[in-house]
Amino acid sequence: MTIAPSPPISGDLPRDFNSRDALNALLAKEFPEAKGELSAIQGGRRAAEAMLKRVDAKRYARSRNHLNGAVTGLSPYIRHGVFSLAEVRDAMFKRIRSREEGQKLINELGWRDFWQRMWQELGDRINEDREDFKTGHAANSYSKDLPDDVREGRTGLACMDSFRDDLVNRGWLHNHARMWMAAWLVHWRKVHWKAGADWFLEHLLDGDPASNQLSWQWVASTFSHKPYFFNRDNLERYSDGRYCKSCASANRCPFDASYDELEQKLFVVQAPIRAGAPQRRDGQTRSSRSSNNSSRNSRSTQKSTQRYQ
Ligand SMILES: Cc1cc2nc3c(=O)[nH]c(=O)nc-3n(C[C@H](O)[C@H](O)[C@H](O)COP(=O)(O)OP(=O)(O)OC[C@H]3O[C@@H](n4cnc5c(N)ncnc54)[C@H](O)[C@@H]3O)c2cc1C
Repeated sequence: MTIAPSPPISGDLPRDFNSRDALNALLAKEFPEAKGELSAIQGGRRAAEAMLKRVDAKRYARSRNHLNGAVTGLSPYIRHGVFSLAEVRDAMFKRIRSREEGQKLINELGWRDFWQRMWQELGDRINEDREDFKTGHAANSYSKDLPDDVREGRTGLACMDSFRDDLVNRGWLHNHARMWMAAWLVHWRKVHWKAGADWFLEHLLDGDPASNQLSWQWVASTFSHKPYFFNRDNLERYSDGRYCKSCASANRCPFDASYDELEQKLFVVQAPIRAGAPQRRDGQTRSSRSSNNSSRNSRSTQKSTQRYQ
């Protein structure tokens, strides 16, 4: 497809550049307060089409939970309307040989659509706890501020500091990294999900209020029937141990425990974590709603931590 140059818009920034360096220079001039270089992720239709061509739905299904898995990287393009969800879906339908082959990826596109619809229904209320926490902790016991060591990437945990660097410098994180970081902030550091969610939105190139706020709420348990948490085995397995090897805190890793031990340590009330009845803030009963990930949980009696294994 030939791409026509963008028409000049009065007062708008230029859109056509001879090189990335020229774009970088303009941004540095216009936004001197913004630190760092451009993200390695390139914008535009051409870059998006190249990414779409590389998508392999079969490999995706097998490997999406691994940090080095065959995820698509399409989220920034979908977020900014370069691709519609239907366009990505149709491209996949043309390429797959069986329904099973594309199922996992199409399901994920469906979850994005679901969050958008929830946003349409809830509006700004996506920014408020949708339900009570199922952690046994009161909502007001969570800190409203993001700690400085987290924001600055000097927590001493190689995994979390690296996720922070990716978030800030690349503007994109793998789904599993998002889940681990959100769970750590909310359940270990006792930071309210909204503080973490707003920080993500400051940096993510795919930052989308619906997918982001509601996913954070799902992790926190204010939009699901139990909190999502993980342990070191899980993180090592899906990151191929890349962080633990060089982590200064490897001998006092806060994640190095069994799920039962962590459950005892992190949460006050145990019963609802395993079998809690969902309680919506607005008093409505929850009929068809199931969050992105929790619907998969409801098909399983396994703990939320195990659903990606
Ligand atoms: C705490 C947290 C915050 C998140 N914030 C955002 C956000 O701001 N914007 C955003 O687009 N996604 C968000 N997600 C969902 C998901 O992590 C990203 O969509 C995904 O990692 C993007 O990478 P990808 O394009 O390679 O995804 P792939 O796995 O290749 O999936 C293809 C597409 O399906 C959609 N998709 C995949 N997984 C999900 C999901 N779990 N929920 C909704 N849609 C999904 C995305 O549009 C994605 O581009 C968040 C998840 C969590 C746990």
